[in-house]
Amino acid sequence: MDAKNKNSSNENLYPPVIAVLGHVDHGKTTLLDSIRKTNIAQREHGGITQKIGASEIEIKHEGKSRKITFIDTPGHEAFSKMRGRGVKAADIALLIVALNDGVKPQTKESIELLKKSKTPFIVVLTKSDLPDVNVEKVKQQFLKEEITLESYGGDVPSIEVSAKSNHNVKELLDLILLIYDVNSEKFTFSEKKELEAIVIESKLDLRAGPKATVVIKNGTIRVREEIWAGKIKAKVRSIVNDKGIQLKEVTVGQAVEILGFEETPEVGEIVTAKFEEKKELVEIPLEIQEQEPHEIQDEMPTFIICADTYGSLEALIESLPKELKIASSKTGDIESSDVLYAKSIGAVILGFNIKIKPDVLKLAETEKVLLRNYSLIYEMIQEVEDLLEGKRLAMLEQVYGRAKVLASFPFEKTKALGITVLEGRIAKGDHVRLMRGEEIIGESHVNSVRIGKDPTSKIEKGEEAGIIISPLLDFTIGDMLICHN
Ligand code: GDP
Repeated sequence: MDAKNKNSSNENLYPPVIAVLGHVDHGKTTLLDSIRKTNIAQREHGGITQKIGASEIEIKHEGKSRKITFIDTPGHEAFSKMRGRGVKAADIALLIVALNDGVKPQTKESIELLKKSKTPFIVVLTKSDLPDVNVEKVKQQFLKEEITLESYGGDVPSIEVSAKSNHNVKELLDLILLIYDVNSEKFTFSEKKELEAIVIESKLDLRAGPKATVVIKNGTIRVREEIWAGKIKAKVRSIVNDKGIQLKEVTVGQAVEILGFEETPEVGEIVTAKFEEKKELVEIPLEIQEQEPHEIQDEMPTFIICADTYGSLEALIESLPKELKIASSKTGDIESSDVLYAKSIGAVILGFNIKIKPDVLKLAETEKVLLRNYSLIYEMIQEVEDLLEGKRLAMLEQVYGRAKVLASFPFEKTKALGITVLEGRIAKGDHVRLMRGEEIIGESHVNSVRIGKDPTSKIEKGEEAGIIISPLLDFTIGDMLICHN
C-alpha cells in the first residue's frame, strides 16, 4: 500500500475516476447530468458549461468534501487500450440498466469488458420513477450473466436511481466513495510515482493545434514539462480543467485538456514522462505463410463495422445478413482502440473503403483480431455469409506479389498504372492493396494487364507492365501494390 495515498481513515486522497457503461437509451447521459447538478460548485456558481469530455464533481461525504471524476467517453474506449500496460482509465464503473428494459445486448458487452478488465462496478438500475417496473425481475437477469448482486448474496452492489427525480443520486455518489475507500488497498496511486495518464479524447483544433484530454492515474503533469503520448511529444503549453480553468499542474484522479502535443494522440494512448520506444512495423512477408487459423468460437462472432462515409455504413448495415451481431459501427478509419475492443469481445472488424495504419494492422496481427477491408459491398457480404455458414476466414492473408508504381498514364476513360514487379507476380483478377509508405490507401482488383500494347494474364518479377485497377484508387508514383488472396 502506498501510504502517501491514504490518510488515517483509509480514505483515498485522490478522486476516483468513474466510467459509465450500458445499453443505449438506458439513461447514461441523463444520469451524468443529474450527478453534475449535485456538484457543490455547480450549485454555488450556477450552470457551469463543461469544457471537456470529463467532469469533476465535489460532494459532502461523511462530513468531508470529496471529489469524483466522471469520464464521458463511450465505455469501450475508456476500457480498450489499458490492457497493454495494465493501466485503466477508470477505477470503478457504473453499469447502467434501465428498469423498464432490463439486460440488453450492450449491457452484456459491458459486462464482458468489466469482467475482463477486472474493474469493480456498481449496477445502477435507472428510471426507478417509471410505473410498473419490476426490480426483482431485472436483478434476476444478472444471474444469467453470472453476476450475483449483493441483495442476492453476491458481491456486486446495486442501487435503484431516477435521474428524473434525483432519487438515490446522492446515495449513488456515496456508494462510489465507499467502494473506493473499501478497496483502498488496490488503489495505490500516487503523485510521487512516474507519470501514467490515459488519453480519453483528442482532436485537432485548427487554431490551437492538437488537444488531448487525459486522465492522470499516477504522477503529475506541469506546464512547460515534456511528456509523451506514445511516440508523440508534447511540451505542455496549457492545462485546462472541465470548468475551463487554466491550471499549472495536475495530479492523480484529474481529467484535463493538454495543449502542446506535436500531433494528435490517439484515444487510449498512455501518456508518460519519457519516450517509450515501440517496435516498428515489419514488412508484410512475401512468402506464403503457414496459415494460423483465427479462433472463431462455435457461437456466432460479433462484428465491428467501420466505413468511409455514413452513406456506405447505412448501405452496409442494410445489406448485411439480419442475424449478424454488430457490436459497434462507425465512420472513419480503424484505430488501435477498435482492435483492442474487438479483442476484448472476440469480434471481427470489417472495414469498407477505409485506411488502416501500419501499427493498427500490426496490432491486429499480434492480438489475432481478424480485420478485413473491402472496396466492394458484395465481397464483404459474401465473406460474412461464408463466415456465418461456419467457414473460417484465414487470419493471415497470402501475398502473391509486390510491385512498384513507376508511371501514370491515361487509358480510355481511366488511368493506367505503369508498374514493375519486384517480387512474385501480379495477375489479372488479383486483389491488390495500394500502399504509400506504410499507409494503406485502398483495396482494388486488377482488371487488365498489358506488356506494351499486348494484353497478358500475368507478369512476374523483373517485368514491367501497364495495369488497370478497378475501382481506380488515388495512386501516385512510388506507391506499392501488394497482390494478395
Ligand atoms: P443514454 O443513451 O444511455 O445516454 O440515455 P439517455 O440519458 O439519453 O436517456 C434515454 C431516455 O431515457 C431519455 O428520453 C431520457 O429522458 C430518459 N431517461 C433517462 N433517465 C431517466 C429516468 O431516470 N427516468 C425516466 N423516466 N426517464 C429517464
